[in-house]
Amino acid sequence: MRRRARAALVAALLAPLLMSACLRPTGPGVSGLVDLSADGTAALRAVYLGSGGWILEHQGDVVLTGPLFTNPGLVTTGLLPIRSDTAIVDRYMGRYDVSSAVAILVGHAHYDHLMDVPRVAARHAPAARIVGSRTVANTLGTWSGMAGRIDLVDDSAGDQRTVGRWLWYGDRVRVMALRSHHAPHFDGYTLYRGTRDTPRTEEPAWATDWVDGETYAFLIDFMATEDSIAFRVYYQDAVAPPPSAFAPEALIAERPVDVAILVPATFDQVDWHPEALVENLRPRSVLLGHWEDFFSPMDAPTRSMRLTDIRHFERRLERVFDGEWWRPDRWTELRLPRG
Ligand SMILES: [Zn+2]
Repeated sequence: MRRRARAALVAALLAPLLMSACLRPTGPGVSGLVDLSADGTAALRAVYLGSGGWILEHQGDVVLTGPLFTNPGLVTTGLLPIRSDTAIVDRYMGRYDVSSAVAILVGHAHYDHLMDVPRVAARHAPAARIVGSRTVANTLGTWSGMAGRIDLVDDSAGDQRTVGRWLWYGDRVRVMALRSHHAPHFDGYTLYRGTRDTPRTEEPAWATDWVDGETYAFLIDFMATEDSIAFRVYYQDAVAPPPSAFAPEALIAERPVDVAILVPATFDQVDWHPEALVENLRPRSVLLGHWEDFFSPMDAPTRSMRLTDIRHFERRLERVFDGEWWRPDRWTELRLPRG
């Protein structure tokens, strides 16, 4: 009897703590390991690499999104030549075994999404296809050694009204590009704008050489069986004015998104981001990506971009989204359960 009374007292004392833990188990700002899966093997593993970089893994199927590790400083990027630092790429990408990755998704060709991709593809993900636009392909041109490894999406992409064509990687991963549009960086002005129509023969030397080109978001389906989806992931690497970057409504009606990776940086340059995407994708959970200051080295503490009021973005998200969402520091690993 006394033991039961003591247990009741402990439960009463812990109740607020347990309640708050139940209401929001973690986050929104998170770091380290966030394991929400009862059974790790069925989970979607999402590791945030900083900038646009993620490792997405389900039951051994691995998809990467274009990471940046070199992180040239702000002044360097503006005034001096920049190039991928292969030693830095190897140091950070080498922390993870991504050798089985089937694809590296690149939404646009700005340096912070594409510059480190050749080294990642050559050294760390030798089997992966690079999935992106004609400008992505032409920027990597002939100098990178990647010409034979690129899957163009310009002719297969979908949009709000049109179901695009799935690109299959093995029989358990499929990817659909979604027509998007790169939001301005500030005051309606977009840096490094343009398309590249012929293959470069030399490595780009300046940030201005990495023009954005056509911009895409992606739907990524990790399949349980040939026609049953285990996880549907949405990925964008740049804010877009709605309905750009929308997923086809017909697809979302069949199966809403499990995890939407949304970009806060520069959200205030367009109307109704993220509200419109939350309505379009009907996500079960949201991860914020490409939110932090990528002009600082990878081992610096993760802090948000100075130009973006991230708290404002988060308040806007919370007003329209009542699911779970997180803003991961670099290297955070989330394990999310199947719905
Ligand atoms: Zn960009």
